[in-house]
Amino acid sequence: MVEENKDNPKRVEYIDSDLFVPTNEWDKERFVGVYQCVICTGVVLKPVECSTPSCAMLYCEKCINGLREKKCPNRCGSKVFNQPNRHMKSQLNEFKFKCQNQPRCQEIVPYHSYERHFSECKAD
Ligand SMILES: [Zn+2]
Ligand SMILES: [Zn+2]
Ligand SMILES: [Zn+2]
Repeated sequence: MVEENKDNPKRVEYIDSDLFVPTNEWDKERFVGVYQCVICTGVVLKPVECSTPSCAMLYCEKCINGLREKKCPNRCGSKVFNQPNRHMKSQLNEFKFKCQNQPRCQEIVPYHSYERHFSECKAD
């Protein structure tokens, strides 16, 4: 099988949650409780949201697709996942993360441009 991203090896596959830079305590709680994927423990990438309103957990699309049974791991049993709403997305986009190439790169990058920075980062 041909490797999917062969021409673009600098794609972000994972953002370690430890790279998160909270601007306040509230930020941190919200991030860990909502935007950290419980499957890979990283920051949710291309997030999908569980369709059960009382659950509404976010997961990486890739993590859900990688499950043997595509079912919400939060015991709610849902098999339907939606795009997160705009509010969730914009909150996530504003969260800031240290570059994965730290400490060689000291950049703090918002989620929405993380992939771009990563592919251009000189410290790799
Ligand atoms: Zn994940
Ligand atoms: Zn769920
Ligand atoms: Zn960098």
